[in-house]
Amino acid sequence: EDVTDEVPGPNRTQNRAEETEETVFRPEHGFDNAPDTDTTLAHNRAWGREILERARDSHLGEERIEASRLETEEEVDAAVERAREAGRRWGARPASERAEILRRAGGRLGLRRAELLEVMASEAGKVLDQGDPEVSEAIDFANYYAELAEGLEDVDGAEYHPVAVTVVTPPWNFPVAIPTGSTLAALAAGSAVLFKPAGESRRCGAVIAEALWEAGVPEDVLQLIQVGEKEHGRRLISHPDVERVILTGGYETAELFRSFRQDLPLLGETSGKNSIIVTPNADLDLAARDVVNSAFGHAGQKCSAASTVILVGSVATSKRFHRQIVDGVRSLHVAHPTDVRAEMGPVIAPPEGKLARGLTTLGEGERWILEPRQLDETGRLWSPGVRAGVRPGSEYHLTEYFGPILGVMTAETLEEAIELQNAPEYGLTAGLHSLSSDELARWIDRVEAGNVYVNRGITGAIVRRQSFGGWKKSAVGTGTKAGGPNYLVALGNWTRRPSRS
Ligand code: GLU
Repeated sequence: EDVTDEVPGPNRTQNRAEETEETVFRPEHGFDNAPDTDTTLAHNRAWGREILERARDSHLGEERIEASRLETEEEVDAAVERAREAGRRWGARPASERAEILRRAGGRLGLRRAELLEVMASEAGKVLDQGDPEVSEAIDFANYYAELAEGLEDVDGAEYHPVAVTVVTPPWNFPVAIPTGSTLAALAAGSAVLFKPAGESRRCGAVIAEALWEAGVPEDVLQLIQVGEKEHGRRLISHPDVERVILTGGYETAELFRSFRQDLPLLGETSGKNSIIVTPNADLDLAARDVVNSAFGHAGQKCSAASTVILVGSVATSKRFHRQIVDGVRSLHVAHPTDVRAEMGPVIAPPEGKLARGLTTLGEGERWILEPRQLDETGRLWSPGVRAGVRPGSEYHLTEYFGPILGVMTAETLEEAIELQNAPEYGLTAGLHSLSSDELARWIDRVEAGNVYVNRGITGAIVRRQSFGGWKKSAVGTGTKAGGPNYLVALGNWTRRPSRS
């Protein structure tokens, strides 16, 4: 029987340049993940080249951002007050209405895919084929949280009450997927949102906000804001009418927020120091590819990135495997994203502090297999670095660098490797490459990370399939996973329904 027509999922061959309200992705089967752009198609490659042309001198979103700045404490208070009023009205609307607006937002984001890619490349240094899945992820959040919102009203024995005001403070490294996901989650849950994009990627924030307003989110329900002074940030976070804060960022930022306000109702996804274990039972070709991609995607600037690879037993001495890693890393085309060949782009700013140390100095016993080099006068473009000989408990082993460096560690046994993997105080992602089910069982039992991946890269969680969130110091606050079934639950309050007997 030929079942080809029954295979769910959208038409992957669509021409991005000709996308319209009618053709833009809408899930057909309850929930489907939105498809990335098919760049095997010539017309989509041409579309991509035009985007990069525009990105060379892009000012998208600039005006909106200028208008969004809160200059005084009074303006901060007024924004919160406005959100409180608006949030009460928004939360009183039926969940089905909010869900409908979210689904429309998914469509608007799809229609603005080219603009989002332009602004991501121009402002945040995202190369095209890494920005594209971010737009798909943002669309997924819209459709998935719409579905969850509809389910919120009938949870057994408990009644759901939306909160009125949520502050969303996303990072610059996923300047579209994370801000959109956090904002839509709070909106789906029935809260108004004060959305403060990271300073480094605020124009991305402006384009996102426009797409959501177009979809029918009222402008007082979603306010785009920038806070000039640290004092104003403190005022905002510690404002008693702010009922939830969604933060994705460094652990230190979560600590700072908590120093502003101890009882902070925080949904925080914070730092990571992640590794992949490769055992002699691995498909080594696959492992090499996944290690390189997980370490150097977006120049290593992902909380989820692989910072270390831990080679077990005979893999540790395999010349062939080392060569595969080195060849893979060397072959990455490093360039600014406006270069259509770019596979790895710049870091967000000239390296300082930890990252500068990580790129230029070695710890005891370490040596460069590939030494990172600064490639141009911007100070932001670096060739990827690989260091071997990383020792247990060393600075490199335990520090998050957030840049294009990979460290190699070795272990005699899988158990020893797991200890090395669990040693950092964070627990965001972790990987195992092994085809042995016995090894998998031993690993899964002991690994301490929120997101675990087997025989796959450790970045690029997919909405609903791999809800994303950490353990240990990678989660501060509720620890609820984004893109998973419980996320909205944590964004509202619950009371027990009186029993009817
Ligand atoms: N969700 C992203 C991933 O799975 C990581 C998010 C982050 O780096 O903050 O790769």
